[in-house]
Amino acid sequence: MTETIFDKILARQIPVQIVFEDKDVLAFNDISPQAKVHVLVIPKKKARNLTELQTWTAQDVGCFFQKVGLVAVHLGLDRSGYRTVLNTGADGGQSVDYVHAHILGGEPLSGNFA
Ligand code: AMP
Repeated sequence: MTETIFDKILARQIPVQIVFEDKDVLAFNDISPQAKVHVLVIPKKKARNLTELQTWTAQDVGCFFQKVGLVAVHLGLDRSGYRTVLNTGADGGQSVDYVHAHILGGEPLSGNFA
């Protein structure tokens, strides 16, 4: 698999503002925030995108999504609400080929999509 900028972030070769980390995921501030809070959550186990999660066990997929929710709680967004987005492929607007969930919030968001 081609190395992406998120592989380099995980390897600490590129600095980011980390907001949460455990054995399964790394969460950091998006460099180009689209909301007051804009955090990216990546699994430490690599997959290119949501489609490729079909090769994972249901337990690993579930763990990733549970951790996305946990990060939102950690950010204090669970009461006010937040948006989660996973872009897939060119038409989906995915610019980094390493599966990641956007968490957007901290303010009322307009529209339905990021
Ligand atoms: P996507 O377009 O869904 O693939 O999202 C990729 C996201 O990664 C974009 O929102 C970018 O702003 C963000 N991004 C790219 N490079 C960095 C970086 N070095 N640090 C933090 N976020 C980044």
